[in-house]
Order: sequence, then C-alpha cells, then structure tokens
Amino acid sequence: MAKCMGEATYKSRKRARIVAEEARCIYCSGRSETLEHMPPLSMFRNRARPSHMEYGACKNCNNNTSGADLVAAVVARLNPTSSEDSWQNNELKKLVNALDIDAPGVRDELGEPEKHKTQWLSVAGSKLLRKISVVKADGPLLEAYLTIFGIKMAMALYRELVGIALPLDGAAWCQFQLNGSISQHQLDRLTTDLPGYSTLQQGAVNVGDQFAYRYNTDKRSVIAAVAQFHHGLWYTLLASHDQRIIGLFSKPPISQLSGSTMMRPGELSSRVPVPIRHKPMP
Ligand SMILES: [Zn+2]
Repeated sequence: MAKCMGEATYKSRKRARIVAEEARCIYCSGRSETLEHMPPLSMFRNRARPSHMEYGACKNCNNNTSGADLVAAVVARLNPTSSEDSWQNNELKKLVNALDIDAPGVRDELGEPEKHKTQWLSVAGSKLLRKISVVKADGPLLEAYLTIFGIKMAMALYRELVGIALPLDGAAWCQFQLNGSISQHQLDRLTTDLPGYSTLQQGAVNVGDQFAYRYNTDKRSVIAAVAQFHHGLWYTLLASHDQRIIGLFSKPPISQLSGSTMMRPGELSSRVPVPIRHKPMP
C-alpha cells in the first residue's frame, strides 16, 4: 500500500513538473495547463502506455481533441487480418461505443456497408480461406478527426525531436493512410530517407507493434516522420518553422496529395467537427 501511494505521489509530481516546465501549449499560444500524452493512452493495449512523450498543453486543445484521439485509436485497430476474438477486436467493441460520445457521427460513417470491401485471405498453414472486411474509411468526419490527430502527432514530434513547441509562425503537415491503402513497398520507399527509429519503451515493455515512427530532423527547425499505429493507420508527417520549407509543403504538388492537410499552431480547435447529436429516443 505504502509503495502504491509513493508511486502515485511520484507520478503526480512528475506530471506537475512536465506541465510547469513546458513554455506553452505544444499546439497553440495558450498556457501549458494539462498533461498531454501523445500518442494517447487509448492507442495502447489495455491502456498500458510506457511513460515518455508527455507534454504540456492548454485545457482547450487537450479536451477538444479527445475525439480525434479516439477515432485514431479505433481506426488503428481495424486490421482485416486479426481474428475475431483477437485483443484488438475485443478492445474495438468498447472503443467504438465511446465514439458516440466523443466523436458523434463517426460510427455511422464506419458502419456504412458500402465502405467495407470483402476480401478472402488464405489462413496461414492451411488451405482455408477466411472472409475479411477491408474498411474504406473516407467519410468527412473521419477525415477531419484523423487529420487533427495527424497534426497533433506532427507537432508533438517536433516538440520531441527539436526540444521546443513548434513556433507560432511554423506549420505542420500530415497525410494519413489506412489499412489496405498502403503497401509494404510504399512504406519501404517512404522510410528510405528516415534513418531514425523510435517507439515508447519502459523497462521490458515495448509497444513497437502498436506505435513506432521513423524520422529525420536537423534538431533545429524541421522534422519529417512516418508514424505507424498498429496495422491500421499510417501517417507521413512534417513540421517546420523554416519558411522556405513551409513554402514547399503548402503548395502543389505536396498540398494536393489526397488526405493531406497543413495547419498552423492554434488552428486545431477550430478544425474539430461540430458534433452531430442524435435526438434522444422518446
Ligand atoms: Zn492549446
């Protein structure tokens, strides 16, 4: 018991220290008021998230973007090759139910049958074929939430790799890809120029199967990364405060890549979709 209390005190002191030492919210010009985990706890199996990659954020950015965190946690677990009773699918059921509260309307977009393409996969070690459903998640709400998550990740990685929050005259760019839309070949090509590799690790706990990223940075003004979340969600991410580099990713052809968006610090909250609340049942 004493040990537990000691650990709790240590954790809350550590949280308070991180929030106090952050110069400002890592996403906007607001004050650092809350502890932001990026990636969020919901991204990890049983919410068992190694510490590290914890930053200060304002209440507004932290609270307003929780829907985006949840949508990313759901989409990341949508893996057509995991078996029905896998832990990913068991966690999905709970997460999908929470969507109605934190990201209303997204469940409807995911649930539309025409978005699911049926494929047959051979079962390893046998001649059996298994029916799987590949999700084509391209509804406007999903896209908005996944974009917010990607921009958050780009800004968090800038903070992580450069050591300061992305300056207010900087910009972040993201492009997401879902399961079935990216091949190993494409991934290999994307990562050729990104020599660094990292994940979250704490003691023997390694969550590289749930979150990992490859990156490059000058540690001063620019980061580029490819981040993978489980087997369902990939991002190409850029963040910089070098105006020449921002010029490159704010103009075609980069700005016209499908699923890509650029945002400035401070824009996240205004991009959160206005909730579509269903009328309560009479
Ligand atoms: Zn903020």
